[in-house]
Parts: sequence; structure tokens; C-alpha cells
Amino acid sequence: MRLRLWASAAFFSMVFQGSILQGQQNQAPPKPKPEETELWSPVPNVVTPGSVYGAPPSDAIVLFNGENLNEWVSSKDKSPAKWIVADGVVTVNKLAGNIETKRKFHNYQLHLEWRVPENVTGSGQARGNSGVFLAATGTEDGGYELQVLDSYNNQTYVNGMAGSVYKQAIPFVNPTRKPGEWQTYDVVWQAPIFNQDGGLRSPAYVTVLFNGVLVQNHFALKGETRYIGQPYYKAHGPEPIMLQAHGDPSPPISFRNIWVRDLD
Ligand code: MG
Repeated sequence: MRLRLWASAAFFSMVFQGSILQGQQNQAPPKPKPEETELWSPVPNVVTPGSVYGAPPSDAIVLFNGENLNEWVSSKDKSPAKWIVADGVVTVNKLAGNIETKRKFHNYQLHLEWRVPENVTGSGQARGNSGVFLAATGTEDGGYELQVLDSYNNQTYVNGMAGSVYKQAIPFVNPTRKPGEWQTYDVVWQAPIFNQDGGLRSPAYVTVLFNGVLVQNHFALKGETRYIGQPYYKAHGPEPIMLQAHGDPSPPISFRNIWVRDLD
């Protein structure tokens, strides 16, 4: 009996001491305050959004506002761009070749609108083909092509339809409007980064909204667009944005309302 009493006293003593120890260990740290996770700088710049969806915000560089091609040159010889400006839109001049921006860009947000003519003819890749080269690295079709094509009831290889990163990335869905209607592209381009020796440190990434619908989400490009063979990178710096004059015989497409926001 005595032994049992002693044992139970010892037990309660242990429990009691343990709870004191635990109390010391559990001493509440200072209570976090909501202010500790508030950042008050740097304060983002004030930007006035466009008055309607698609209109350039106040910090955009307007590349084409319907009046002239002062921001553009012919890709092959850097002479004044010879596409046709009329009625607030610019129409591809297939004989004059690709045009590109005078300015060079690294990381950016791009908005542009394009329209396949209502009387378009042809099929597959030969129907309203053009393209947006997100960084133009050569005079011909050098760079990374976001495909432009009539993809309204027009079958072709799916990594070559509108909204594709040509021969690299199939668009998630096909939100193409019918010929004669305007389509929008909103693009976020993250340029590739190269090491000093020319090796690739980080690939290019692209996010694309097509008519407001997400079709590419931070896609890591495998390299520059190749018509034949696999894509690969070659080192480059900031580059122009280029629009494609495709050689197919279908009537030429038009562009309007092109602006860019430099993200560097
Ligand atoms: Mg094309």
C-alpha cells in the first residue's frame, strides 16, 4: 500500500513537472501582427487603362493606330514598310514581304487585332496565313512565330493552327471567329536568356489570349520556329516584333490596333 502511494505520488510529480516544462516550452511567441506582412513600396506606377477593352493603356507604345507605319520597316532591307494602310487598318502586301518594328523588345505585353477577309479562299495553311514573330531574328521567317491563320472550319495540323506556337504548341481551344470578323491576340512574352558563351540559360515563355480566351499558358519554347526539323535556340538580344507576309495565294489579311508594353 505504501509502495503504491509512493508510486502514485512520484507519478503525479512527474506529470506536474512535465506540464511545467511543457508550459515553458510552449511559451507563446509574440503574436504576429497583420502589419508585419504588409509591403508599402515600391508603389506600382499609375496606369490609365484604355477606355474600352483592347484600347492602349497610358503606358503603351502604340505601334499602329490606323494612320501610318512609322513604327515599322520592311524586314528584308529596313526600308519604309510597304504594306497598305487604308480605313484605319493595315493590309499585308505579300509582294513586299514581312514588316517589323523599328524598336527592339525584350520582355513585353502585346495587343494586336487581325482579320481574315470575308472572301478568303484556299484551305489548310493556304488560307489567311500570316504570323506574329515574337522576336524576329532574321530577315526571312527567323524567330518565334505565333501563328495567324483562318482556323474557322479550316482543318490543318493542330500545331499550325491559329493560336499555336508554330510547330511547337497546340492551342488549348479554338476560339476563332469567322472570316470578316476581327480577332484579338494578347500576348505576354518572356524573352529567352543566354549565357555569355551563347548557351541557353532560360527558355522563352509565352502566354496568349486569343479573343480573350487563354490558348497558351506560360509555354516554354523549345527554340526558334523551324518549318523543317526541330526547333533550337541561337543566342540573341532584344529583337523587333515582325508580321508575316505569307506566300500563299489567298487574299491578304489585315491588322489594326497594335500596341506593346515594355516589361523591362
Ligand atoms: Mg504563318
